[in-house]
Amino acid sequence: MSIPFVDIAIIGGGPGGLALAQGLKKNGIDTAVFERDPVRADYVQGFRMRIRQRGIDALQANLPAHLYEIFLDTLGLAPTENLALDEQFNRLDDAGRSGGEPEDTHIEKSVSRITLRQILLSGLDHIFQTGKHFCHYELQPDGTVIAHFVDGSAVRANLLVGADGAGSAVRRQLLPDLTSIDTGVRRLAGKITLQDAERHGVSPFLTDFNTHIRPRDGRTLMITSHRVDPAAYARHGLIGGEDPSHSNISGFHFNNTTSYAWWNTAYDANELGPDEALENLGIM
Ligand SMILES: Cc1cc2nc3c(=O)[nH]c(=O)nc-3n(C[C@H](O)[C@H](O)[C@H](O)COP(=O)(O)OP(=O)(O)OC[C@H]3O[C@@H](n4cnc5c(N)ncnc54)[C@H](O)[C@@H]3O)c2cc1C
Repeated sequence: MSIPFVDIAIIGGGPGGLALAQGLKKNGIDTAVFERDPVRADYVQGFRMRIRQRGIDALQANLPAHLYEIFLDTLGLAPTENLALDEQFNRLDDAGRSGGEPEDTHIEKSVSRITLRQILLSGLDHIFQTGKHFCHYELQPDGTVIAHFVDGSAVRANLLVGADGAGSAVRRQLLPDLTSIDTGVRRLAGKITLQDAERHGVSPFLTDFNTHIRPRDGRTLMITSHRVDPAAYARHGLIGGEDPSHSNISGFHFNNTTSYAWWNTAYDANELGPDEALENLGIM
């Protein structure tokens, strides 16, 4: 069986792998992305991603101009002001800095992960392949590398890029001594539409700021919002619209077209149930 060849094979079609593929394509370099999952439906995908100037600059460099314009046009709005409150909603002095790095001169932006994926996938029809679960690679005497997939298929490349996330199988083979360290922190998060928040009388303190609730006793809760402009979402066809690949997943979680507030709070791992139980709590 002959093994197909591509100049640069990228394992993993997350934001990293897809942005790289866009940049290579823009520069006329032969590439292909091999992704395990047909739909990105891990819980974090239902939320926005904060993106700072360095990330925005990277997208500008890697995307064709029309996609970069769509990215800017469909960006969400996040509150710019921080607020710290106690459990009685009294303001605390230390609201914290926004956390920008020195070279980050711009305010961070909020991008729906679903919309960002739609943008990054645009134009990659013959480059992005799903159902390709990478298992291992083999270096060849001629300097190429063969990547093998669980389905028995393989690809030969001049360069193999491991963009397969924190648990990267490429990294495990290349750098077996590098292990992930469990911080012992587990986060719970949820979201509510701004319309529902208003209907339920949720205070603007919780929807119009990056708010940290710091009770004297108990867990800190962080809550913020992501506002979208439906008119912008309507301008770009499928990009920014509700994603058909999520249409059979019920509930509001994977909605990228509605403004919402979202919260998260952190626990020590031993305060909650076992990880498998937490993962199986699922998405409502
Ligand atoms: C709760 C949370 C909040 C975050 N908030 C932010 C934020 O606000 N801003 C920010 O910049 N970052 C944030 N991050 C981090 C951000 O999500 C990651 O840095 C980003 O997703 C990394 O992108 P990636 O493409 O490198 O990897 P991933 O997004 O992990 O993508 C890896 C891809 O590889 C695929 N894959 C995995 N294994 C294989 C395999 N063996 N074969 C083929 N494919 C495989 C996966 O299916 C996936 O599609 C957050 C992370 C978490 C968990």
